[in-house]
Amino acid sequence: MINSVNKMKKYDTIIIGAGPAGLTSGIYLARAKQSVLIIDQGTVGGQMIMTHKIANYPGVIDISGYELANNMKAQAKEFGCKIISGSKITGMDISGGIKSIEVDGEDNYSSDAVIIAAGGEPRSLGLESEKRLKGKGISYCATCDGDFFQDQDIVVVGGGNSALEEAVSLTKYARSVTIIHQFDHFQGFPHAIKEAAEHPKIKIILESVVEEFNGDENLNSVIIKNLKDGSLKEINASGAFIFIGYVPRTGPFKGIIALNQKDEIITDIEMRTNISGVFAAGDVISKRYRQVTTAVSDGTIAALSVLDFLNSKKQKIEYSLASEVS
Ligand SMILES: Cc1cc2nc3c(=O)[nH]c(=O)nc-3n(C[C@H](O)[C@H](O)[C@H](O)COP(=O)(O)OP(=O)(O)OC[C@H]3O[C@@H](n4cnc5c(N)ncnc54)[C@H](O)[C@@H]3O)c2cc1C
Repeated sequence: MINSVNKMKKYDTIIIGAGPAGLTSGIYLARAKQSVLIIDQGTVGGQMIMTHKIANYPGVIDISGYELANNMKAQAKEFGCKIISGSKITGMDISGGIKSIEVDGEDNYSSDAVIIAAGGEPRSLGLESEKRLKGKGISYCATCDGDFFQDQDIVVVGGGNSALEEAVSLTKYARSVTIIHQFDHFQGFPHAIKEAAEHPKIKIILESVVEEFNGDENLNSVIIKNLKDGSLKEINASGAFIFIGYVPRTGPFKGIIALNQKDEIITDIEMRTNISGVFAAGDVISKRYRQVTTAVSDGTIAALSVLDFLNSKKQKIEYSLASEVS
């Protein structure tokens, strides 16, 4: 419920999330002279700031995620976006013609359109040692970080298509890849299982789970537990890639926006959701590939769709006013 005591500040569009998708939408909309508010509950930049090097963003050679995020933020601000970060959305009513959002229980904002660009996060194992060594050998993105493990021994945790396919892709860099999976069989497609199983650089350990990641500054070994007999085994590894699923940050939108079975927002190709005036972009939507480039692309499409939506809304209002007058 929105606290209506405080006066609402009105924008053309409110964007939820200041990762690459949200910032790109903001850049396009503000450049088209729309008033834009971007709200982020964390730090501006989203997941990009978790990676020390982004080497696959076209036209930008070797930039840190932090720097790329700051460049996008500066560009959005330059065009006039208002950005508030570290602020929690405490209420929202986005179903009607005018959308309203309450932040930190006290500030109220309204808009004609909303873009949800709340992103997501890779599912983690939930181990304390995993948290400590994240970004120091532990990664959730082979495309992003595989290159850092040239000729090294690494492990991949998981047994679905992502784990199997990424394990094979990591053999381009690593000396050896050990797949650790909790069940006695994989859940991937037969061809993905075959390719991984037959690869000379890949070893497979089934019915085992990671008990602990070891290392002071960086990861240097992984303790795994055999689920059949409870025995522990230490594997030397300087890298560990975890592919056990992905969690979209759609909690606040459940029951409001149509989600798929994985809780990802369902959009059409123009990034429209099932609610008029509400669009979604980036990692939060239902799609196969999640990269900065794909987030930026979705953000662009969402912004252009919003412009189209706002134009037709304006035309309808003008038409009905003209009809009333005549
Ligand atoms: C470790 C790591 C390394 C990576 N390296 C690369 C790489 O090298 N190259 C590459 O292309 N991709 C890389 N990726 C993937 C890439 O970062 C993501 O695909 C991309 O950031 C997705 O952008 P997004 O804007 O959709 O979402 P996000 O980046 O997840 O941003 C979403 C933002 O929304 C905010 N938010 C969430 N919920 C709310 C809410 N309720 N209210 C307000 N704000 C909210 C979050 O705080 C966050 O800032 C990497 C990912 C990780 C985790």
